[in-house]
Amino acid sequence: MTCDQVRDRLDGFLGSALDPAERSAVTRHVAECAECRADLEAARFLADRTAGLRRDIPPPADLWAGIAPRLAAPRRRLSVPLGWLAAAAVLLVVGSSAVTVAVLRRSTGAIDPVFATTEARYQQAALELDDLYQRVRDSLTPDTRLVLERNLAVIERALGEARSALRADPANRTLEAIVVGAWRRKIEFLERAASIERES
Ligand SMILES: [Zn+2]
Repeated sequence: MTCDQVRDRLDGFLGSALDPAERSAVTRHVAECAECRADLEAARFLADRTAGLRRDIPPPADLWAGIAPRLAAPRRRLSVPLGWLAAAAVLLVVGSSAVTVAVLRRSTGAIDPVFATTEARYQQAALELDDLYQRVRDSLTPDTRLVLERNLAVIERALGEARSALRADPANRTLEAIVVGAWRRKIEFLERAASIERES
């Protein structure tokens, strides 16, 4: 099973919706692949937070069911390609993002500089995608906007919580992986939201 196939099945995996063969293929893959393991951690983290939100605000489930299939549109080109982002943790040396690192270091004492640089890249990609989404936004119905933005808020809340937890415990590599996974989720979601067909 490829990373993309695993990523598409994470929610089903957590919700016990997979058949046994798929389940064990996902289990085998995440045992070997650190990136998908981080995505799984993030998905679990987000699933917990989403459950919390659902108690507060009943989500318009029918609407989401209508929107979700349309989110699988082709990916737009980013100036910061996602593959490069994935490699960033391994390849990056601290250079242009030294300021970010200095700021993070000042507030935490011990955030890993390579991680900080990676996060700065995610931040940049998220800004670019949000910009693309804002251009599509006006053509969407208020209902679609509400559902998309409510889902995005869930992801952002989880990302915020993961980042706070990491700031409190900067040497914790599991938390670091959860933050990376939550960023990837946010970027994938924005990427899809920005690619949604215009409704008018
Ligand atoms: Zn993988």
